[in-house]
Amino acid sequence: MPENDTVEPQPPRSLFTLDLNAIRHNAETLRRAAAGAALWAVVKADGYGHGAVDVARAALDGGATALCVATLAEALELRAAIPEARVVVMGPVPADGVVTARDAKLEVVTADGFVPEGVPVHLKLDTGMGRWGLSELPSPSRNVVGVMSHLAVSESDPAFTHTQTERFREATDGLEGVERHLANSAATLRHPQAAFDAVRCGIALYGISPFGTSQAADDLEPALRWESHLALVRLLERGDSTGYGRRFVAERPTWIGIVPVGYADGFRRDLTGTEVLVDGERRRVVGTISMDALAVELRGELPKGTQVTLIGDGVAIEEHARVAGTIGYEIATGLDSRAPRAERVVVG
Ligand SMILES: *Cc1c(COP(=O)(O)O)cnc(C)c1O
Repeated sequence: MPENDTVEPQPPRSLFTLDLNAIRHNAETLRRAAAGAALWAVVKADGYGHGAVDVARAALDGGATALCVATLAEALELRAAIPEARVVVMGPVPADGVVTARDAKLEVVTADGFVPEGVPVHLKLDTGMGRWGLSELPSPSRNVVGVMSHLAVSESDPAFTHTQTERFREATDGLEGVERHLANSAATLRHPQAAFDAVRCGIALYGISPFGTSQAADDLEPALRWESHLALVRLLERGDSTGYGRRFVAERPTWIGIVPVGYADGFRRDLTGTEVLVDGERRRVVGTISMDALAVELRGELPKGTQVTLIGDGVAIEEHARVAGTIGYEIATGLDSRAPRAERVVVG
């Protein structure tokens, strides 16, 4: 091979940076809002796409006293990484998973009246979610350590949230030796009367507003940055199009940049029209987003390799969610930060 033919190192297609300082900050904000109730960190779905183990450690540092996940498999991953943490599996555990849960020192939730033996159990009451949950509490057995319920409209309907809170209070009043927990992020931030003994917070811990509005208003800091670069810059002549379906046709000579990130990375197909930062300036995503690439409209020619910020520096997950007609939760959990498609680093 000739000497000058050495291969230049390629930048990653995209880079995710998780800021643990932000997670700790958000944990503190939530603890303050919970006014005396314990903070339990919800890290299901790989920590809402942020990385469950890293987020869990930072949340515990920030004062959280337990971790909550949806499945037994998620709990086992946490248990292997953080042997001493309290871990609650909130979703159904199959009967043949109870022994595994017991051996891994997990806590489980029952929503159907069957109280497994040998593991700490939380009873889940239905106070209005209309999903999983008991309509009445069974007589408590020794291994019941908690009673919980889940709120259906805590981000949007204070009256129904109040109704659910009061139903929960009445159903659990006088119970002794169990922890009562009801509130999620939105309730923790807006309905302090729903805090009881512990609050289970997910979305706000990541610095994403449960209300779909500004995180800063609730003293939350976004914890995730997502960056990529212009892999190709080209000039479209009038009438030229970019991408599948010819959904963007240049009305005049237009510089566009191609970013090597697409819907397989979590930049959804319905994000056309959203804004990202190109070299620090807001630019529109145009045309059809493909599996591995998207196009941005530029003001002029820019060098290949120019930085593109897809999330961060004021480009918020909530904003992308509005464009896609969904919620921040779905954008976050859809992100794929795993190698080999992306690189992921942790700072703080
Ligand atoms: C996901 C979940 C939460 C966390 O909700 P956020 O809105 O993300 O704070 C709390 N409780 C239960 C039962 C959940 O499933």
